[in-house]
Amino acid sequence: MAANVVLIGPPGSGKGTQAERLVEAFGLRHVSTGDILRACVRDGVAPAGVKDDDGVVARIAAILKAGRLVPDDLMMDLVRATLFADADSGWLLDGFPRTEPQADALIEMVDADGPEPVIVEIVVPEEVLVRRLSSRMTCTSCGHVVARGAAEGAACPSCEPGRMVQRDDDRPDTVRKRLVVYREQTRPARDVLGKRYRLVEVDGVGTPDEVSRRIASVLDPAH
Ligand code: AMP
Repeated sequence: MAANVVLIGPPGSGKGTQAERLVEAFGLRHVSTGDILRACVRDGVAPAGVKDDDGVVARIAAILKAGRLVPDDLMMDLVRATLFADADSGWLLDGFPRTEPQADALIEMVDADGPEPVIVEIVVPEEVLVRRLSSRMTCTSCGHVVARGAAEGAACPSCEPGRMVQRDDDRPDTVRKRLVVYREQTRPARDVLGKRYRLVEVDGVGTPDEVSRRIASVLDPAH
């Protein structure tokens, strides 16, 4: 079983759900840059590794809301401070890299701290993504996602204080912007990693269980 995994996939590919399952099944440490940034906005505190100068949290909040990307240097500082914080456990990185400079920075960090990650890309057609994103609800507290059916403000099925809401950046205009950002910036980052590390593409259409089984079988054929 690979100790380190980079999970790549467009918004709505089920990346967060699969990440939750993989960290549980393989005992990995989950580093989700989206979760870290949302927690920073919720708590009003700059993420680890990022200087808490005036306005940084407000700047991050505005970028997330617009579906744009947080600047590369800030993201690199954040990942550098969290990814290698515990040398004893393997990690699952989710949400980084999203640009070519971030991919180059990750390669540099791994060269210094190894071992090499396996890159898992979840592949889903764009029309399926738009449909999924506009109906999904996310817990304000633990980030748990349900595909559809939860009422705005319903109790989270996964944690006590949590409430299910539509993420600001899951609204239709922002979704379209995030998909363009993925196509134009994150696909090239994936190509950079694919030239350097083992990259597997997994079909992300199907139930969460089906997709989990596909991912588990490529990471650990005995699983
Ligand atoms: P996610 O939950 O991974 O979809 O991330 C939510 C939002 O956080 C993204 O739409 C970006 O605004 C921001 N974000 C997360 N990871 C990164 C990254 N590696 N680089 C730039 N922005 C990021």
